[in-house]
Amino acid sequence: MLADLLSIEKVTVAFGGIVALKDVHLSVRDGKTTAILGPNGAGKTTLFNVIAGAVSPTSGTVVFQGEDVTAQSPSKRCHFGIARTFQITQPFGGLTVLENVMVALTAKATPMKQARAEAASYVDFVGLSAKADDPARVLSTGQRKRLELARALATKPRLLLLDEVTGGVDRPSIPEILNLIRRMREERGITIVVVEHNMEVLFGLADDAIFLNRGEVVVTGTMAAVAEHDSVRRIYLGDG
Ligand code: ATP
Repeated sequence: MLADLLSIEKVTVAFGGIVALKDVHLSVRDGKTTAILGPNGAGKTTLFNVIAGAVSPTSGTVVFQGEDVTAQSPSKRCHFGIARTFQITQPFGGLTVLENVMVALTAKATPMKQARAEAASYVDFVGLSAKADDPARVLSTGQRKRLELARALATKPRLLLLDEVTGGVDRPSIPEILNLIRRMREERGITIVVVEHNMEVLFGLADDAIFLNRGEVVVTGTMAAVAEHDSVRRIYLGDG
């Protein structure tokens, strides 16, 4: 097992005159959950997109499982084992919950019968079996987030990128989603990178963290150590 599943090395991203990331380094430990923290405009989404392959760095490299994947497309990275969820979930509303998961599988050329059984196991894992035959459009926000997790699981990721996975979800449904994410890591050994504004959620999930400000790394380390940093306390805990 590699110590670091993913490393971001000296990554800079410039959008015209705006430098969204500057010389960013990040190591993501295998089997752990890493949080990307920072105030608005800090570069969190850009870093997330650099890992997923949706944004190409102006300079620097992205290394996944020891391979330089900087030039690889998002779909190629998905094939290598990098999956992502979206802040705004994007299921096919007219398809059933089960079919939505099957689509993620058939993209990998799984035979239909096998796809159905396999998709059912992911739907069950995320606790949506009772909704398997309902159209995705009738799901609540929390259920849609869980469907999104099932679709990501169907791509058999080594690394899962979660964008605001509890955003818009009613409070009582949040623990269920957190529990699911912990199970993904513990039972399936999936490494997770998360962008999330809710600090309570982050404390419940993250082992490690990186805190960005204006595109630069302010501090990295364990979640507990990063949370103690003055700038982090100021922004997330309202100190000072
Ligand atoms: P938020 O918490 O508000 O979502 P963030 O930390 O995710 O912010 P980014 O969205 O990564 O920050 O943005 C970092 C900087 O890069 C901002 O100044 C933003 O305006 C700029 N930026 C991001 N994407 C683009 C783009 N496609 N074109 C131009 N500028 C961009």
